[in-house]
Amino acid sequence: MKLEIKNISKQYGKKTVLQGVSQEFSEGVYGLLGPNGAGKTTLVKLICGLIDPTEGQVLYDGKSIAEYDRVELYRMYSAVFQQFSIMPVTVEEIVAEAPAAQVDSERVKKCLELAGMWERIQKLPNKLQSQFGRTIYEDGVEFSGGETQKLLLARAMYKSSPIMLLDEPTAALDPIAESEIYHKYNQISEGKTTVFISHRLASTNFCNRIILIEDGAICEEGTHRELLDKKGKYYNLFEMQAKYYREEEVAE
Ligand code: ADP
Repeated sequence: MKLEIKNISKQYGKKTVLQGVSQEFSEGVYGLLGPNGAGKTTLVKLICGLIDPTEGQVLYDGKSIAEYDRVELYRMYSAVFQQFSIMPVTVEEIVAEAPAAQVDSERVKKCLELAGMWERIQKLPNKLQSQFGRTIYEDGVEFSGGETQKLLLARAMYKSSPIMLLDEPTAALDPIAESEIYHKYNQISEGKTTVFISHRLASTNFCNRIILIEDGAICEEGTHRELLDKKGKYYNLFEMQAKYYREEEVAE
C-alpha cells in the first residue's frame, strides 16, 4: 500500500516538533533514525492517526486518513509501541487478537516462528493454549521483556493490515535474537509497508530505505548504500557506531 505524508507539521503547545515533512512510502521496510526527541514517535503516531497534525495530511492510497472512520483506520495498520498492554488470555489469542474459536493456528505458528518465539512456546506445558500472566491464573506464564517484544511482533504480523509500524521492536532483545529478526525483516514485512524506529545502525542495513530525522525535518533519505556514499550525517553516525564496536573488539 502507498502511504504518504504531505507537508506535515506538528506542534505540542508552542513547541514545534515536526515542520513541513513530506515522504512517500510503498511496500517494503523503512527505517526511521534520529536523535532522541527528533520527532520519530510523533511521526509514527501521526501516520496511524493516534494524533492529528497541526498542518498537512496523511494519505493511505491517496485517501486522507481523516476520511476513514476509526474501525476502518484500525484495520489498515498494526503497530508495536513502547507502551503496550496484553490481555490475560492464551498465547494464541494474544497473537491473533481473537477468541480461540476464530484463531488460525497455522498463521499463529508462522508468525511466532518468524518472531523467534515458536520454540519457547512449544516448551510450555499448554503450548499455544498457555494462559498469559499470573495476575488471574496461578499457572499463567510470565515472559521476559525480550520475549514479550517477540510476542508483540508476532501479533503485529498476524494482523493482515497493509501497514506495519514498529517503535524500536528489538530494543529488549539480546544481540543474537536481534540479528535474527533483522535478517528476517523482509519476510516479516512481506506484502506490507513497514516503518520502524531504530537506534541501531546494524538494523538499517536490512531496510529498503532509511529516513534520517533531525530538528523536526527529514535531513537524509535513501538506501543504506546511497547514504554511505553520500558521506553525510548517516555516514558519520555509521562510522561513529562502527568505531565504537571496533574499539570494543580491540579492548577485548
Ligand atoms: P523521538 O521518538 O524522536 O525520540 P518524540 O516524537 O517522542 O521523539 O518527541 C519529540 C519531541 O516532542 C520531544 O521533545 C518530546 O518531549 C515532545 N513531545 C512528545 N509528545 C509530547 C506531548 N504529548 N506533549 C508535549 N510534548 C511532547
